[in-house]
Amino acid sequence: MTLEQKFVDITVKFIDLVAKVLPDDVVGVLSTLRDKETEPMAKAIYESMFENMEKAVSMNRPICQDTGVLQFFLKVGTKFPLIDKLSDMLLEATTVATNTVPLRHNAVETFIEKNTGTNTGKNVPYIEYGIVPNSDKLEMIVYMAGGGCVLPGRSMVMMPSAGYEGIADFVADTMVNWGINACPPLVVGVGIGTCVASAAKLAKKASLRPLGTKNDNAQAHIMEQQLEKALNGIGLGPQGIPGKAGCVLGVNVENMARHPSAMGAAVSFGCWAHRRGTIVFDAKLNYEILDHKNTVL
Ligand code: SF4
Repeated sequence: MTLEQKFVDITVKFIDLVAKVLPDDVVGVLSTLRDKETEPMAKAIYESMFENMEKAVSMNRPICQDTGVLQFFLKVGTKFPLIDKLSDMLLEATTVATNTVPLRHNAVETFIEKNTGTNTGKNVPYIEYGIVPNSDKLEMIVYMAGGGCVLPGRSMVMMPSAGYEGIADFVADTMVNWGINACPPLVVGVGIGTCVASAAKLAKKASLRPLGTKNDNAQAHIMEQQLEKALNGIGLGPQGIPGKAGCVLGVNVENMARHPSAMGAAVSFGCWAHRRGTIVFDAKLNYEILDHKNTVL
């Protein structure tokens, strides 16, 4: 088997895992919310989520029927031996996984309005490259976002005079008006930058950060805590029905320096079936899976 074939083979198996098993941190927070919840209907929904997770493994099926558009976030070392072939190999892995997992056909060519049937198409799967100098490793996040949790995402630019209170209002409004339709409890990723694009990228990055980690800026972390407390206090629970334990799995904020005259803010949601997996390869394709411990592919 060539190195390329080995990479495709491991990636197909990893996509399979991500579709069927939630990461440890997400299962941990779901379990805490289930134990804290006191509303009978909300508690029953948590029980059905855990039954769903068990059945996904025992019946070898994806956790949710909407397996999303595949997204790959790469931090690739300039000396990683397969750096030039990554896009082609990820395209192939996506096509194979579509049949073997199986994945729902979720790539519709825009303007042609035709489903390709392979989960591949123009710029799909989505691949974001980060380059790491003087490294021969590859860190790869695989993420599947269904249509339901993509729909409520929002990005806007406000006057800096709106302040951080303006950002908090924007996040809360987006959550209450749109987010609750996205199968709560939700991961809420907040990005703060200059333009809609930079804020949206940071919001996605924030939504992929493991739950329980914090922004290294103390003020930004206070915002994470305050938003989480506020959103969990609006009286909603799983699937947007009344609940006492809350409706978010966590709030992560990612930020950057901004233009003095503009403050961009964005929100990106992940649903309770937050299918994120992180794998690190060395140059020989030995690998470590960071967020699904004790897992063998
Ligand atoms: S929001 Fe998530 S859990 Fe709900 S249908 Fe979409 S992918 Fe499935």
